[in-house]
Amino acid sequence: MTEATRILVLNAGSSSVKYQLIDMVDGSRPAVGLVERIGERGGRLLHTPAGGERRESVRAFPDHWAALQAVAQELAADGLGLDSPELAAIGHRVVHGGMRFTAPTRITDEVLTEIRRLVPVAPLHNPANIIGIEVARALRPDLPQIAVFDTAFHTTIPEHAARYAIDTAVADEHRVRRYGFHGTSHQYVARATARLLGRAPEEVNVIVLHLGNGASASAVAGGVCVETSMGLTPLEGLVMGTRSGDIDPGVIFHLHRVGGLSIDEIDDLLNRRSGLLGLCGDNDMREIIRRTEAGDQAAELAFRAYVHRLRKYLGGYYAVLGHLDAVAFTAGVGENAAPVRAAATAGLEELGIAVDPELNSVRSGEPRLISPAYSRVAVAVVPTDEELEIAQQAYALVRTS
Ligand code: ADP
Repeated sequence: MTEATRILVLNAGSSSVKYQLIDMVDGSRPAVGLVERIGERGGRLLHTPAGGERRESVRAFPDHWAALQAVAQELAADGLGLDSPELAAIGHRVVHGGMRFTAPTRITDEVLTEIRRLVPVAPLHNPANIIGIEVARALRPDLPQIAVFDTAFHTTIPEHAARYAIDTAVADEHRVRRYGFHGTSHQYVARATARLLGRAPEEVNVIVLHLGNGASASAVAGGVCVETSMGLTPLEGLVMGTRSGDIDPGVIFHLHRVGGLSIDEIDDLLNRRSGLLGLCGDNDMREIIRRTEAGDQAAELAFRAYVHRLRKYLGGYYAVLGHLDAVAFTAGVGENAAPVRAAATAGLEELGIAVDPELNSVRSGEPRLISPAYSRVAVAVVPTDEELEIAQQAYALVRTS
């Protein structure tokens, strides 16, 4: 009998579905792909089987149902269909698991109801995740479907760090607290950093800087997350591509009362038109570095504001941890932007943090150290792999249940 050793990882967003089929025996990816612009004009499916040519299909995908059916057909065309006996489970990325979901969870009707109850705290993300789950369950009702939550890794954050200092009754009534996001990435990178250092995760204190379009920092003590920069929503914390990160809440009252902006307009301003984009008109760090090198002052200000916030979190989390073994940079900016890594760590020798300019300039897809041997704190670049982490967690659950 064929052993079921493959996990299909689905990441359903509001207008896209990304997927990877991962073989847990050798870590290979028999197929990866994505569907873009679901429910919009100019839909597109890109599907790449291992060792094969990328296939592109440009057509309308009216909804997630159509998109996932098309994904199932593409997989079947390569002999990797959803009915394949090798498929052990489907792993779903779910953004918000609230306080209820602290670990990967097998999806039942009751679990799905609970994920639906969390929609008010994750209105942009959970609805799409739910549709992905519903369609996948309809396509393969008998197959284990596992939810892996972006918030789960952060549920260990102590109460005094997770609470906002507001009226407890109001906070509890509306489930207002700091949940944190990107947890799957922080968890994967913290563990991979320990491996890079040749140590057990339980022995290592690490600050993970996940710097993608969205960006967040976390403090991980012996494999357990104790602090993270995103809060009730992904808006809190670092300066991001289009999000402001930390801001005086008074700014919102001011823009509403004095500026006449509606709450929806302010929401759009802070989430989609702020951050690097708001400061200089670009949210791509490559472009910002290029413009800065060409003497563009707005780009330079954006770069400096981004790095300044990063350093505040780095220093703050160092104090939260007390003892620090490693700083790990990950995601698009963290893995690729040497000038950001250099500026974020410059002049911190007294804190035991140093970066070797030559090591920092090496381009590679592998986890690597960029600190010199004398640096008391290791500084690392560790490519994240959220899909692999989701697959591993889903696989571990189906093997033990
Ligand atoms: P997402 O949060 O959408 O998953 P990624 O982790 O892929 O994003 O990060 C995307 C960002 O990474 C881009 O907006 C870009 O600013 C940055 N980036 C990618 N490559 C480079 C590079 N070579 N140099 C600087 N920044 C880069």
